[in-house]
Amino acid sequence: MFDLAIIGAGPAGMSAALTAADHGLTVVVIDEQQRAGGQIFRQPPETFAGSVLHPTAGYGWATELIRRFEADPRLTTEFGWSAIGVLHDDAEPDGLCVAINHPEHGTRMIGARRLLIATGAYDLPVAFPGWTLPGVMTAGGVQTLVKAQKIAPVGDVVLAGAHPLLLLVADLLIRDGVPVREVAFAQSIPTPVDMLRALGAVPGHLRMLTETGAILARLVRKGVRVSSRTIVTAARGTEHVSRIELARVDRRWKVTGAPREVAASHLVLGYGFSASTELARQIGCELAFDSPRGGWVVAHDERLQTSVPGVFVAGEPTGVAGADQSRAEGTLAGLGIAASLGRAVPAAAFAEAERGIHASTRFSAVVQSMFEPVRGALGDLATRETTVCRCELVTRGELDDFLESSPFVSNVNAVKLSCRTGMGPCQGRYCENSVGAILASAREQTIGLGGRFSAHLPIKPVPVGDLRDLDAVTEQPASDGSDTGRSAS
Ligand SMILES: Cc1cc2nc3c(=O)[nH]c(=O)nc-3n(C[C@H](O)[C@H](O)[C@H](O)COP(=O)(O)OP(=O)(O)OC[C@H]3O[C@@H](n4cnc5c(N)ncnc54)[C@H](O)[C@@H]3O)c2cc1C
Repeated sequence: MFDLAIIGAGPAGMSAALTAADHGLTVVVIDEQQRAGGQIFRQPPETFAGSVLHPTAGYGWATELIRRFEADPRLTTEFGWSAIGVLHDDAEPDGLCVAINHPEHGTRMIGARRLLIATGAYDLPVAFPGWTLPGVMTAGGVQTLVKAQKIAPVGDVVLAGAHPLLLLVADLLIRDGVPVREVAFAQSIPTPVDMLRALGAVPGHLRMLTETGAILARLVRKGVRVSSRTIVTAARGTEHVSRIELARVDRRWKVTGAPREVAASHLVLGYGFSASTELARQIGCELAFDSPRGGWVVAHDERLQTSVPGVFVAGEPTGVAGADQSRAEGTLAGLGIAASLGRAVPAAAFAEAERGIHASTRFSAVVQSMFEPVRGALGDLATRETTVCRCELVTRGELDDFLESSPFVSNVNAVKLSCRTGMGPCQGRYCENSVGAILASAREQTIGLGGRFSAHLPIKPVPVGDLRDLDAVTEQPASDGSDTGRSAS
């Protein structure tokens, strides 16, 4: 049995793994990507020519962190494997079994005394007419294709949403020769008061902010229209997107006028991120709703232990706060886990890790408040015909009719049981935000009050045959911690 299993090799998972290994723990890190780095430092496969990481401006530390992680012989890594669920080990009072799945090699079980959930975030999905048409993509998805596979959309592009990632992606696309027609932000242009409030974010992030300014200037120089207070109301086309409808909105993102059309073959959406919490939900961790920090986030104590003993959390599942904070939380979690297993951790080490988190919070708090999505207005974009749950093909009209005929239903799981929204293979990752916003508006309650979908093993779709291996033997680290042996659980 490993001392620690970490799910996710982004900034949080990597720094936790190195910290835990420094305190003598045996560590296994599982990530469904082929290489370390997580979302922000995603690397192309080693087989690609010139596969060198160019970290985003302001994150110069990434190259060294990835180098140390990849070169560390104390760590066992399982790349290309998805964690699909966690079970308690009947044979070990404080043991956990992580079920991991690979598209070609099926399912294996890995035993560990402690678990760290460092699973990051994903693009916030928004349902509106045409959002399921081919050609509609998320900003993170497009960035992933360009960064990891060197593939860019063919045709012209409109980007729309409310997050600065749109600017980074527009810049990536233009550098790849893709025509960008417009970048539309739902927010207003920041006022001088907004700018003053944002001053707290400047120390330590000047390079990142000037780079963002430079990107904006490059876009304008290339003739790209950058609009504010503009929202996408529909993507139109028959087999593929061919036209995008954009409309003016007020400060709360309510549509105020008739939409205009822009011809384009791709629509790239970037409304921000949702914390990736499905593993925490499956294990039974408590969550709390925090809209600016990514919706449902995992509750934890001051050493990042969740409500489930032995299960810790770091990075975006505690709240979407950027790579600096993920890295700092990874260090704190590594220390907390080492201490929970009886290793001597000096108080000064905890204090330093906490200072790291505090320093990054100054920046992340400003970003969160400036770019918080107006979830109610996004819920209103779906019309009666819009498919809200794309796994089970449930429309907004069906939801509205159900809510009208069942006036006492005020929880998303009750809606799920009756309408099947969130019942499909994505377990609500696509529709939870829309269903939550629609329910909140119908019942005149907050989104948090409507609760969240539960998640079940397997948290990601796998072939049914792969589930028979869930009672297989649990893997153990070899005595030197460098390789895995096996024994029955
Ligand atoms: C698509 C996308 C693109 C982004 N691009 C940028 C950017 O350009 N600039 C920026 O400042 N911020 C960006 N962000 C925000 C960025 O995620 C964070 O700033 C930072 O990467 C968070 O670090 P982390 O360690 O918490 O999580 P991540 O870096 O997201 O790492 C989490 C890791 O967990 C793995 N994982 C998740 N679930 C499982 C599972 N069940 N089994 C196995 N592995 C799993 C993922 O593959 C991933 O490698 C992006 C976010 C997303 C979602």
